[in-house]
Amino acid sequence: MWRSSVEELVDRHGRTILDFITRAYALGWPAGGYPVHVSAYANWAGAYSSTRSNMLVVSSLDKATQGLRGLETIFHEPMHQWDNQVFAALGVQGKALKVSVPRDLPHAMIFFTAGEAVRRALPEYVPTADAFDIWRLQLSGSSLPAARLKPLLQQIWLPYLDGRGTRDEALAALLAAAAQASGTSPIFTIETDEFWLNLHHFLYVLGRAEAKIRDASRSAVVDAPAEAERGAVTLSDEERKTWADAVTAYASGLSRKDPIVDESLAAIVGALVALDGGTAISGAPIDSAARTVLERAAPIYRKAWWPSHRASNQSWRASIQPLIDRHGQTVLSLITRWYGMSWPARGYPVHLVTYAHPLGAYSTSRGGLIMSTNAKSGLQGLNGLEMAFHEAMHQWDDDVLRLLRGHADKIGKDVPDSLPHAMIWMTAGEAVRGAVPEHVPYAEVFGLWKRAMAPLVVPLNEIWKPYLEGHGTRDEALASLVAVVTGGPRR
Ligand SMILES: [Zn+2]
Ligand SMILES: [Zn+2]
Repeated sequence: MWRSSVEELVDRHGRTILDFITRAYALGWPAGGYPVHVSAYANWAGAYSSTRSNMLVVSSLDKATQGLRGLETIFHEPMHQWDNQVFAALGVQGKALKVSVPRDLPHAMIFFTAGEAVRRALPEYVPTADAFDIWRLQLSGSSLPAARLKPLLQQIWLPYLDGRGTRDEALAALLAAAAQASGTSPIFTIETDEFWLNLHHFLYVLGRAEAKIRDASRSAVVDAPAEAERGAVTLSDEERKTWADAVTAYASGLSRKDPIVDESLAAIVGALVALDGGTAISGAPIDSAARTVLERAAPIYRKAWWPSHRASNQSWRASIQPLIDRHGQTVLSLITRWYGMSWPARGYPVHLVTYAHPLGAYSTSRGGLIMSTNAKSGLQGLNGLEMAFHEAMHQWDDDVLRLLRGHADKIGKDVPDSLPHAMIWMTAGEAVRGAVPEHVPYAEVFGLWKRAMAPLVVPLNEIWKPYLEGHGTRDEALASLVAVVTGGPRR
């Protein structure tokens, strides 16, 4: 009886399921298929497969192997024949990312993929892992139980099964997310002691004030000149002159650029990050004029301001790190799920400086995330947590823009420059609010929606927010967001 009912299902759906599975794994299936041996009692799991003989034994009595379950099982078990190849493929990605492969991951992938394969053939089917809540079990006693792997499979492996990206990209993203979820790798590593980076930013901000650039009066940077004056009282006349010359050099050069949009300044910031990693300044890829200014100013900065700047960085870290430890995983899982993007396995370094930029924080593709720690930057407490995630989300800018442009092209429109950023403001704020309900997002506290982003408030509230609340898919939301903000046809 078991045999005839399952055989019929195999005849009808086997080819679809097999194609789905072999494509997903990018691995081959023996041309002659696998022999299935039916026994009344197989083992506790209802079925098992033996790697030595390519043989599959299925229990005909277990309720987990009846009907469609039987169909799922007779594909699940042969997939174990791939175990070595799958561990090897994961191993390659894990090595590149410097993370280990969770022991339960290959088996959880089989449960997930075989279940999805049957569901593709028969949409009303509830996969075995869900029906019997296999996710509760410790499949092999790993530190990252299957229950923690399931959301990662939904977030990363399912879009891949639906056609997004390559197998190895998906495996790498799974490992990165698993490393995050197991708590074996940090979400952020906060750097407090980066001397050259702090010196450069102090000069940068003071130079903007000296050049009378309007945003030098913004709260994140307004205190810098007064602090510079207070520190200077301990200096000799000669030191004071050298320092003033350095500020003037910045005022007429680097301080007139913005590291967010200026590649050459972003490159200097990146080189200074490397310098703080132990590179000698003589070998840094910084033009010699800028290097000379930094070299001359360094001993003066070290004496007059660096001790208090470093202390301010360290106390910021001491206040924000507990918030990351408490809420970081929740925020991270929300934003990666909402954006459908993955986080680097080793997290993002956050570089702390006392004065960063008129905006308080910024990020560049070369330097990473730069955050201000001074009290007036507004980045204290949960605002600091929100902005760390906000800046990290800028690392997805290229991918997000590509997605948005894909939707805009279809209706012959351009994506407004301000849209990806407004999405980050809303998403990072809502993610922190998702973790801590009393959090009021930064953009609301500081009235940003009433200013530059005002035209986007309504579309984001009507389209993007409902998506964050669970309605529809990301790409549906992006498509209608693009249509509405460009005045194109609404879907
Ligand atoms: Zn299995
Ligand atoms: Zn931003």
